[in-house]
Amino acid sequence: MGPPRSKKDTPLATVREQMEILKQLVVADEEIRKLDLELGKEKESIDGLKKDLAKVREKIEAERAQYDILEADRGARIQEGRVLGQQLERSREKLNRTRNEKEANAVQREIEETRKLLRDVEDAVGRRLIELEELKKAIIDHEEEEAGHSAKIAETEGAVSQKLAEVGGERGTKAVARDLIAKNLPIPTLRKYDQVRAKRNSGAARLEAGRCRACNMSIPPQLAQRIMRGDILEQCPSCSRYLYADPSASMSPPPPSK
Ligand SMILES: [Zn+2]
Repeated sequence: MGPPRSKKDTPLATVREQMEILKQLVVADEEIRKLDLELGKEKESIDGLKKDLAKVREKIEAERAQYDILEADRGARIQEGRVLGQQLERSREKLNRTRNEKEANAVQREIEETRKLLRDVEDAVGRRLIELEELKKAIIDHEEEEAGHSAKIAETEGAVSQKLAEVGGERGTKAVARDLIAKNLPIPTLRKYDQVRAKRNSGAARLEAGRCRACNMSIPPQLAQRIMRGDILEQCPSCSRYLYADPSASMSPPPPSK
């Protein structure tokens, strides 16, 4: 055993005790990790729905903007058509006042040209009308989709927030219990354990049949024996997890693979 700790009330945990603490800590941390995964999934489910909703809303906004542009263009074309109509009227009056064939021919050509322009404008107005109708249909479809997403979110949100509160509460309780276990470890050991855990999801592993149970690395026999005897606390040379001896486990048959 190492030198006695300066704190009088809490004696330094023996290697055996530290191993026992690590064993409990691994279980507690795994439970917390699973709850975190569950929380993540719940959040994701609602986030996915919200993303879909945002996408369809963006579409509707773009379609409405396009609708306004087309509508304005259609209005401008209608106005253009009116002007051409008036021009046509004037040309016809002029035709009545012509004095010779040459003049009449010139006015007739003018009338033909104006008529052609008017036809083009009327075609464009018609096309815009079709485009506007198609756009209106698309907007209605997308608004239906939007309503569907909103309803789904409203329906899911209640259940999800309830689940989040439930799981979150459970996680809080477990985290408190975990910290009570963890504070029995020497601080440098806990720090290393947490470092490895952050990287590998677990910070300690059972030494079983001379191997690290987490990464399956074979531990040098002399080192393995000392660990099994509870002489030293060591990290696995391969994965850096703390290795703990657990005589009760090594005597029993291996756990079911799961
Ligand atoms: Zn290992």
